[in-house]
Amino acid sequence: MDELRRRYLIQQAELGGAEAILGAGAALAPAALPKWLKGAPPVPGPGLTITSADPVLLGDDLATLPTLEAVAERIRTTHCCGLCPGRTNAVPGEGNPQARMVLVGEGPGATEDATGRPFVGQAGKLLEGILEAIEVPRHSVYITNIVKCRPPQNRKPLPDEIAACIPYLHRQLELIRPKVIVAMGGTAGEALLGVRKGLGELRGKVHTYNGTPLIVTYHPAALLRNPNWKKPTWDDVRIARQLLDR
Ligand code: URA
Repeated sequence: MDELRRRYLIQQAELGGAEAILGAGAALAPAALPKWLKGAPPVPGPGLTITSADPVLLGDDLATLPTLEAVAERIRTTHCCGLCPGRTNAVPGEGNPQARMVLVGEGPGATEDATGRPFVGQAGKLLEGILEAIEVPRHSVYITNIVKCRPPQNRKPLPDEIAACIPYLHRQLELIRPKVIVAMGGTAGEALLGVRKGLGELRGKVHTYNGTPLIVTYHPAALLRNPNWKKPTWDDVRIARQLLDR
């Protein structure tokens, strides 16, 4: 039995599905192996383990906000940093409140600012394609950003802007409690893990954020600029996908 098939069977057995798949001792039919798993790298070893601070914002205890909608409403009605006055719309995030996978980008772009929705421009289209390829439809996940308001000219958010806004994200993750978090881009990875290490160092490990596995990969907008990063991204998301099945 090849390594891939062995890993898949172990995964299915852990999920309680081995008997259903194998029948009474029957061999696994090759067709049962999902397409995305072929050639996927094994799940790598552990990286950083972090425990985020309680989500406290401007003296406000975000931990009292009971739902994602309540957090979104707070984001839409509050100015927490210098980015807020320049927004057309705040972009709190959207998706399934019970999502098993949460994807985190850097900050809204022009289309997101105009619509109030995350990842709806070109990078969003690419992200949807990636999610489809791992058989995780967009409507099943939750998508958000490190900062909820568009930085001017799409520049990287500044450290004080990230510090002001990230308590919202911590509270969103606390409410969703996903099985896996995917940080898209170095800014998202560094902000969530609270380190300055760069994408190169953060990729290829399973970090632990408040007990939840966290994978860092390239930002979809970076893939539009440099298609050579598509293959490593494909590997990263297939690692995240395997974690979903654990
Ligand atoms: N880039 C991001 O980081 N977030 C979005 O929502 C859109 C583009």
